Amino acid sequence: MDLTGKTFGKLKVLEKTTKRYQYNYFYLCQCECGKKILILDKSLTSGNTKSCGCLQKEKASEIGTKNIESNSNGILTLNKKYNTNISSIINKKPKNNATGTKGIYFNKARSKYEAYIQIHNKRLFLGRFENKKDAIFARKEAEEKYFQPMIESYNSIKTTIKKEYYE
Ligand SMILES: [Zn+2]
Repeated sequence: MDLTGKTFGKLKVLEKTTKRYQYNYFYLCQCECGKKILILDKSLTSGNTKSCGCLQKEKASEIGTKNIESNSNGILTLNKKYNTNISSIINKKPKNNATGTKGIYFNKARSKYEAYIQIHNKRLFLGRFENKKDAIFARKEAEEKYFQPMIESYNSIKTTIKKEYYE
């Protein structure tokens, strides 16, 4: 049996080598991508190996791109639905905020803490509090009420995509 000259998927068999594994010989093959590679005859004839590995890489990157697209599409739709940037909610690190807690501001004139939540592109006032702790609590309550459903939808999109990728 000599496979020289035959084509298996993207692989063209160049020559039979003297290298062997048990009763099987290694063939020098050239892939369509230009790479040369040694492949066991058994792997070629069984149809297990159809490229130097670039085929799988192509497929993976195709799936990867598709996932990134459906991922961002799904999340964009979600953002639109809630009129909110959900990843900014999930990324809870506050920016430029003197109190160090997102949505909590110190009202100097009244000497009180104020809690807000950004929802549907509007800032919703949650109340004015003596203690920062109470303000944080009000904010947390509002987060659970408004953000939790969004975060759940967001996570379910991500999980679906992950599942698709591995199936
Ligand atoms: Zn290749």
